[in-house]
Amino acid sequence: MTRVAFVAHCILNQNARVAGGAYCAGIHAPFVEELRGRGWELAQMPCPELGFAGLNRFWAVREQYDTLAFRRHCRRIVDAVAGAIAAHLQRGDEVVILGVDGSPTMGVHLTASEADLGGRPEWPDSAEELSEGPGILIEELLAELRSRGIEAPRAIGIRHAGSGPVPDRERAKLASFLDG
Ligand code: SF4
Repeated sequence: MTRVAFVAHCILNQNARVAGGAYCAGIHAPFVEELRGRGWELAQMPCPELGFAGLNRFWAVREQYDTLAFRRHCRRIVDAVAGAIAAHLQRGDEVVILGVDGSPTMGVHLTASEADLGGRPEWPDSAEELSEGPGILIEELLAELRSRGIEAPRAIGIRHAGSGPVPDRERAKLASFLDG
């Protein structure tokens, strides 16, 4: 059976991330190696933030992106992604969704959230505002799949990290998820 992982853009290209947010140049190798090593095909989900706000965008939380204009932008993207997922499922392929936990847009179980953030850009290094729940694109994608009568594929959010124990932990989490 063909296995297809719909993967957040920045896992395949870190340069899509917010200015100063890339942990490496280009491909995030540990996650891609894990997927390839287990025989998964990769389908890239476009980066909504890059298309909407560009490379020089500020770091932001879910509340800042939760606007009608950004949701419309996400809906255009998920229309195409949901269509591709539907085509794979119709063929009998196994599909998973691979988001990025902590992202205001593509978190699956954790999203960046802070109701008071706004005004002059300022985000102390130690601050990490997270709350349970999906980011906006993932929320719209699940809604689009529901509206098409498609049962949502299994989904996981993995967290980016530069070095140390976190990448190993996230890679192990991904491996265990892919093995079902
Ligand atoms: S998590 Fe999604 S929205 Fe955020 S940088 Fe990666 S691809 Fe773009």
